[in-house]
Amino acid sequence: MYDMIVKVLFKGADILTLDPERPLLRGCDLAVSGRAILAVGKVPKTFRPDETLSGRDRLVTPAFHNAHCHSPMTLVRGWAEDLPFDRWLNEKIWVAESALQEEDVYWGAALAACEMIRSGTVSYADHYFWMRQVAKVVAGSGMKALLAWCLFGLGEDKEIGRATFQRTLDFADEFNGAADGRLKVALGPHSPYMCPDAFLREVVEAAHKHKLPIHLHLSESQEQVERSKAAHGKTPIAHLDELGLFDTPRPAIAAHCITADDRDIQILARKKVAVAHSPKTYMKLGMGMAPLQRFLDRGVQVQLATDGPASNNDLNMLEVMRLAGLYQKNEQRRPEALPHTQLLRLAASAGAVTPGAPADLLLFDTGQAHWLPRHDLAAAVVYSSHPADITHVMCDGRWLLKDKELVTLDEGRIRREAEARALRLVGTPMRRVRRYRG
Ligand SMILES: [Zn+2]
Repeated sequence: MYDMIVKVLFKGADILTLDPERPLLRGCDLAVSGRAILAVGKVPKTFRPDETLSGRDRLVTPAFHNAHCHSPMTLVRGWAEDLPFDRWLNEKIWVAESALQEEDVYWGAALAACEMIRSGTVSYADHYFWMRQVAKVVAGSGMKALLAWCLFGLGEDKEIGRATFQRTLDFADEFNGAADGRLKVALGPHSPYMCPDAFLREVVEAAHKHKLPIHLHLSESQEQVERSKAAHGKTPIAHLDELGLFDTPRPAIAAHCITADDRDIQILARKKVAVAHSPKTYMKLGMGMAPLQRFLDRGVQVQLATDGPASNNDLNMLEVMRLAGLYQKNEQRRPEALPHTQLLRLAASAGAVTPGAPADLLLFDTGQAHWLPRHDLAAAVVYSSHPADITHVMCDGRWLLKDKELVTLDEGRIRREAEARALRLVGTPMRRVRRYRG
């Protein structure tokens, strides 16, 4: 796919670089060569583009990374509404998933990919079942992903798709680094409250052996903290630290750490755990809010995320940035908290737009009424843009969206298949697959 080096020139665009030295360039050129950004501002005279795009009324920004989601759960979007977390899982989500078939995962993930690309996300950390199907979507769509096959460690007959730990390790060996390096694999134990300690120890051992990160749910409620203290004499975060879960060669990804206390936060910072922060899910399920400001003040690595579309209900990182900022400003009674450039950095896929960085880029149409006047384009992205303003999306120098058309996915077919399967899923007589007790 990358045999031929494609050269693209963005001519006279506004560029939100996120580079602290020169965060916004007005009316500048940007050159992409192959998978990377070649030049920003001054393009070498010898550069011969295959394609030139006018930057008039266009803002180039970094594309987004969604740090924690369950993309195939688009199929149960809107099916479990206005319920508390335990009832949401026990009565709806884990019931619907008992009817899940392997091919459903492909179409649910493909629907999610359409939505993500259209809202500017090119890369995501996914956590679900039958991940070979999601890998197929990632490979075909041109996106990037870190895929974790979710396991409960309860035994084959209780796992969705009858997955075994060994089968998920085989998946890791086969797909880690696949699709020109766009696919990476993490180990995906569900959480300390659903996975027995013996299983978590096995996961840690495998993470060392296979050099894989671990991606799991962590410390989501006070009940989980109380149960962990009763069982282990420690908070869930301290307990996992003791099990060695944060000492693996690649840093762990922990969603959501809502109830992290000061000692927990120290552990997360010291062990370089990436905390996925999904404010819309927390607010919608009434879970309280993770201490985002304290995470940032104490050096915890935070990445923004939607979580699954069953709770979010969409995969729109523009909205996640907006909610993360608005909540903190209001909660702290401090409008200067979480400045918009910081929010953009927490959501950006490949960091700043600089020469040598992967060409993961978006183009916004800034000529729309809600962008005018263009006093502060970064604030406009965070506080007034819509996904429909995104006209072009590029990942590793390859077009995924061009003039608002999806280039790599058959959106019409995906929409039809996904909805038909979703209706079948909730129409099938169902049983609950496991039980959440907090
Ligand atoms: Zn989740």
